[in-house]
Amino acid sequence: MFNNNTIQRFNDTETPFYYYDMGVLRQTLDACRDASSKYGFHVHYAMKANFNPKVVDMIQTFGFGADCVSGNEVKSALEHGFDKGKVVFAGVGKSDKEINLALDADIFCFNVESVQELEIINGLAADKGKVAGIAIRINPNVDAHTHHFITTGLDENKFGINTWQLNDVAETLRKCANLKFLGIHFHIGSQITDMEVYRNLCTRINEMQDWFEDHGFAIKVLNTGGGLGVDYYNPDTNGIADFESYFKVFSKFLKVKPGQEVHFELGRAMVAQSASLISRVLYVKNGQKKNFLILDAGMTELMRPMLYQAYHAIENLSRERGERSGEPDGEVAHDGAPNTPHPAPPIKYDVVGPICESTDCFRKDVDLPQSYRGDLIAIRTAGAYGEVMASHYNLRDQVQSVYSE
Ligand SMILES: *Cc1c(COP(=O)(O)O)cnc(C)c1O
Repeated sequence: MFNNNTIQRFNDTETPFYYYDMGVLRQTLDACRDASSKYGFHVHYAMKANFNPKVVDMIQTFGFGADCVSGNEVKSALEHGFDKGKVVFAGVGKSDKEINLALDADIFCFNVESVQELEIINGLAADKGKVAGIAIRINPNVDAHTHHFITTGLDENKFGINTWQLNDVAETLRKCANLKFLGIHFHIGSQITDMEVYRNLCTRINEMQDWFEDHGFAIKVLNTGGGLGVDYYNPDTNGIADFESYFKVFSKFLKVKPGQEVHFELGRAMVAQSASLISRVLYVKNGQKKNFLILDAGMTELMRPMLYQAYHAIENLSRERGERSGEPDGEVAHDGAPNTPHPAPPIKYDVVGPICESTDCFRKDVDLPQSYRGDLIAIRTAGAYGEVMASHYNLRDQVQSVYSE
């Protein structure tokens, strides 16, 4: 992914920073649009995955809608030029202020997560003399077979309305004159690569739409949520998410009636591979049991490994590709530069950040060539849930972004 010119540019740039490869982003969005438009599916970009302005701008130019989970995301989507008729607002705890903002903006749909929320939106819409489009987020109790920290569609999760509450929902909808029922919404988790999971989801959606129609509610929108995973292990050889298989499963197993629209809300799959976190080695600590590479980036720049034990590929750009930033004085290189017939075996390092927390570790026992202070380290597949979760803990600087174009 990184050619010599790019690495030279990194050498001349203050670290840490996110590097966005806009070409990778464009190719990914192209693939997503091609695969979804074949079936006439509607794709909304889940803003929370990455709200970097250049990234969002490019996504908007592809004509996707926006899936928002806060009032500020709704505002940002509209400022970036997303069509208000393609903006949806989900979230288990929408505040009155956020609901009012979305009502004023005349967004397409609220994805509603409780009976109480239906009543609140109805009341706030009535105050404004408006009718709010709503979809019911149903918790389908489908196991996403992903990490339990990022599973959202089981009975024990806080998200969505459980099926045993649907009679209440129907009764409430009949009473609420300022709500327009548009359809049903699901989102069962993230980083899902097993297509069988989506097949199971289709089965549940089919049952649920029968239930609503049996109770007199016509469904216009089937919103299947997001969650398509990416390959964190092979960002170079498998850099585009499997949009083809994903949309195909829905085209095959979802019962779509005439006049119905199928909506998707993808975040990670659209942006994850377009960015890497670029950092420098500050210190190398060789211990008796462990070797540590201490980077100038930590959980304040990329929190996924610390938050949910996420895996990211880690590369030493100064050693693996022969683009050296210069050996430290008096050091003998033991690394395998290109064309060296017998590269030195890799060394296991715990790659850690500078933050005063023991969990501030990107990964333990990472195989890397012998590494030195000043080496450039790339933490790959950091375009989703990376920059957006950056914090100022330890009074750290705002992480910077660098773009390929
Ligand atoms: C986070 C989220 C998404 C996007 O999830 P990805 O795993 O990034 O595709 C979609 N819909 C809702 C409601 C979400 O909260």
